[in-house]
Amino acid sequence: MLISSEKIYKAADYLRLSKEDGDFSFSSKKAESDSISSQRKIIERFVAQQPDIELVAEYTDDGYTGTNFERPQFQKMMEAVKAGKINCIIVKDLSRFGREYIDAGRYIEKIFPQLGVRFIAVNDNYDSLKFSTSDSLIVPIKNFLNDSYCRDISIKVRSNFESRRRNGEFVSNYTPYGYLRAPDDKTQLVIDEVAGEVVRDIFRWKVEGMSPVTIAEKLNARGVLSPSEHKRSLGINYKTAFQTNARSKWSPKSVIRILTNEVYTGVLIQGKRTTPNYKVKHTIIKDEQDWSRIEHAHEPIIQVREFELVQKLMQEDSRRASGSDTVYPLSGRVYCGTCGTLAKRYSVTNNGAKYAYYTCPNAKKDGSCEKRRISEKELESTVLAILQSEIKLILNMEKALNQIEELAWEHRETARLDKAIEVKSAEMQKCRTMKVSIYEDLQDGLISQEEFLQMKDGYSQQISEIEQDIGKLKKERAMIQDGVANRSGWLSQFREYQNLPSLSRASVVNLVDKIELYPDKKIRVVLRYQDQLANMVEFLREQDATKSVPEAEVS
Ligand SMILES: [Zn+2]
Repeated sequence: MLISSEKIYKAADYLRLSKEDGDFSFSSKKAESDSISSQRKIIERFVAQQPDIELVAEYTDDGYTGTNFERPQFQKMMEAVKAGKINCIIVKDLSRFGREYIDAGRYIEKIFPQLGVRFIAVNDNYDSLKFSTSDSLIVPIKNFLNDSYCRDISIKVRSNFESRRRNGEFVSNYTPYGYLRAPDDKTQLVIDEVAGEVVRDIFRWKVEGMSPVTIAEKLNARGVLSPSEHKRSLGINYKTAFQTNARSKWSPKSVIRILTNEVYTGVLIQGKRTTPNYKVKHTIIKDEQDWSRIEHAHEPIIQVREFELVQKLMQEDSRRASGSDTVYPLSGRVYCGTCGTLAKRYSVTNNGAKYAYYTCPNAKKDGSCEKRRISEKELESTVLAILQSEIKLILNMEKALNQIEELAWEHRETARLDKAIEVKSAEMQKCRTMKVSIYEDLQDGLISQEEFLQMKDGYSQQISEIEQDIGKLKKERAMIQDGVANRSGWLSQFREYQNLPSLSRASVVNLVDKIELYPDKKIRVVLRYQDQLANMVEFLREQDATKSVPEAEVS
C-alpha cells in the first residue's frame, strides 16, 4: 500500500522515559540516546520527511514504566484519539510505547486499527500503513519482545564479567602463552614453566638485538612448539594423533604479540574490547581509561624494567628503515649533534675489506648540515671506553652513597620524584582546563565542530600520555619507599655491566640514551638515568663525600 499524498495525518508524538526500564542503568550514552529531547528530535526529523504527516500534539510520560499503560499522558492521548483530534501516533521505538507484549500488541493489532490510527515506531521501521496483514504485524512486535529479553540477559552477563574483572580474576577464554590456569582456581594464572622459559628467551634475544623475524627462525630451528602447538600439546589427552600433522610454526607476528603483551609483567588488562550491544557481533576497542587494569594480578615472567626497555626498542625498530633486519650495537642510538637527525650507517667495501661509518644524512644529501664522519669501529671502541669509565665512576659514587645514611638518600630521591609528579600534575590540569574551554569555544561558535573534535582528540592524547608519565613516576616513588630502588633500581643496571669487556647491544640499550656526533670525530655520550645521576651527584656533593662529577663527554 502506498501513502496517499492527499491525506494529511494529524500526528502526536509520544515520548517516554523511565528509570525502572533501565534507561539510565548502564551508561550515560544510553541515557542520552533515549532522553526525551533526543526522542523528540528523532521523531521531528522523521516527520519532516513525511509530506502526509503533520505533528499537532506531543504527550510525554516522564518517569513512567513501559510495563503497563496506566500512564497519565498516554491516557490523555487516547482521549484525543477518540475525540478525533489525532489519527496518527509516532514513537521513537516500540519499547518507548510499551514493554509488555500482550498489552502493546492489543493496542497495535486491535485498538489502533479499529480507531483508524496509524502507528509508527521510527527506529524499528514499523509503520502500520505499510503492514496490511496481521501476519506481518507480528514480526516487529516479536522482535521487540525478543529484544527486551535478550537485552536483559546481555546486561546481566556483562555486568557480571565487569565485577569479576575488578576482582582481578581472569575471565577471558584465552590463556596467554607462558601461563596456565591454576588447577584449583581457574580464574588465576600461574606460570607454565616450559613456555615461560621461552618467553624469557624471546625478551632476552630482543634486548640482544635480534629482530622478531630472527627470533621466530631461531625458535623454529630449535623445534620449540609455537603457541598454538604448545596449547595442543597440553590438551594431548583430548586430541588424536593425526590431528597434529600440519604444524603451525612461530611467526614474527606471534613473537611481536608476546613482546608487547603486558600480561608478562604481572599486569592483568581486561575489558579492552566490548560489543556495542548484544546484536552487534563486531567488537570495538574501548577508551584506555575504561580498561580494567590490575597490577600484581599474577606472578610476572618479565620484569617491568625489561618490558619497558623492549617497548622502547620496538619503537626504535619501527622507526628504522624497513628491510634493514640486522641490528648493530649502536643501532638507533647515534644522532647528529648539530641537527638532531638520526645518523645513518653506511657500509662500503674498500680494497676487499668491509668498512662501515656513521654520518649525518643531511650533510651527505644536500650539505644542509656540516660534514662529520666516524668509522663504526672507532665509534664503538670510544663508546666502550666511555661506558667503562662512567660505570666505574658511578659505582664508586654508589659506594660513597652506601656510607651515608640510607634514609637521607631516600628522602632526596622521593623529593625529586614528588617535584616531577607535581610538575606533571600541573601540566595535566592545564590540559584538562583547555579541554573544557574548547567546548565553550564550540558553543560560542569560535571554532567549528571539526576543529573542536580535532582539538579534543589532541588534548585527550596529551592527557593520557601525562597520566602514563605520572604512573611511572609514582611507581618509582613506591619502589624507593619499599627500599628496593637502591638495590635493584636503575643503579643495578650499571652494576650489571661493571666488567664490560666489549660493547654489546644489551649494554648500549640499557645504559645509553643517545650518542651525538660532532665534526672532527667529537662525540658526546648521553647516558640513560640522567635525572637520577645528576641527583646523585648533587646529593654527594652536599654530603661532601666526593667531589667527582661524571663527565659524559670526550673529545
Ligand atoms: Zn646533521
